[in-house]
Amino acid sequence: MKEDFLQIDVTKGYPEFQLEVQLTVAEGEFFSLVGPSGCGKTTLLRLISGLTRPDQGRIILNDRDLTALTVWERKIGFVFQDYALFPHLTVGGNIEYGLKIQRLPGSQRQERIKKMLALFELEELVDRRVQELSGGERQRVALARALAPEPFLLLLDEPFAALDYGLRRRLRRELKELQTKLGFTAIFVTHQQEEALSLSDRLAVMAAGRILQVGTAAEVYSNPVHPFVATFLGDANLIPCTVQSGPEGLTVHPQGGKSLLLPSAPGRVCGSYLLMLRPEDLFLTTDAPVFTGEIRTAEYIGYGFSAEVEVGGGLILKLLTGKENPLLPGERVGLAFRPQAAKVIPDGAHHLAN
Ligand code: ATP
Repeated sequence: MKEDFLQIDVTKGYPEFQLEVQLTVAEGEFFSLVGPSGCGKTTLLRLISGLTRPDQGRIILNDRDLTALTVWERKIGFVFQDYALFPHLTVGGNIEYGLKIQRLPGSQRQERIKKMLALFELEELVDRRVQELSGGERQRVALARALAPEPFLLLLDEPFAALDYGLRRRLRRELKELQTKLGFTAIFVTHQQEEALSLSDRLAVMAAGRILQVGTAAEVYSNPVHPFVATFLGDANLIPCTVQSGPEGLTVHPQGGKSLLLPSAPGRVCGSYLLMLRPEDLFLTTDAPVFTGEIRTAEYIGYGFSAEVEVGGGLILKLLTGKENPLLPGERVGLAFRPQAAKVIPDGAHHLAN
């Protein structure tokens, strides 16, 4: 497996937006790009595909410099949210389209189409017009059409966004299985944190034209390096704190709570930071709590309770507990956490302006 299969180092400026990205994707990787609307995900895919030209920089795919190549010369497949199938062509005609552009001889074309129809269970629909298909069927045709020319790389821009939740879950599972089976490299853009966390080998969190963090889902969820990353991938308590490093580790003084000693975090010396705790990492305790406060809201959510606790200085902490700990508003509680669950991260909110 080639670790530097895709190497991106580009800038692109629009009057009100500036993108600057360095990123490496490994061969066979399922890589997701996540971030809020307008952060530059589609722009980055367009730069990779060749639909948009960078102002500066290069894109290298499998040792080939793509920068000067046209869209078709790049051998990259793409699937977009709105399918972009040719309405006047049949299912078979749509799948054949890219193969004709590749000038693949007729017999090989037919073989490839047959393979795709079987792979996506579209055999029965080969002669149907695309208007006569359901949303899920259309999206399978779009995937078959993109994969038929056997691209080096498949780009997927929110491909399932227009579909209902159940179908979306089924198709994304199918896509992941297919990617594992065929071994193609995929870059998948999604708004949905859950989708990115469950599908990706690695993911990048983008904001304001920059990549803030790259890693496996578990790394980025558990060890965010930026407050935006922490809150974008799930609920997070970000508690202002000051830290001092010593031989034993980091002494953390959180706002509204008691000081505590954490295992050392590289690069954190002393100063103002944020203590990041996921709601599921906090637990109720009467024995040496770090925070004490009053439950403001408590909701039953099936597998347990979701609550907000007001601790010292008016700080509100989110808490998730199991069913065995029914919570009631007005109750006073003590909260603690395992030191390994807590992360000390720089307060980077001001770095996000574009
Ligand atoms: P979404 O999740 O909503 O699709 P995105 O992260 O994919 O958003 P982009 O579509 O890449 O975001 O857009 C990033 C920014 O670049 C936006 O502010 C957009 O208005 C701007 N932009 C994109 N294309 C152009 C263009 N051709 N001319 C000017 N500005 C553009």
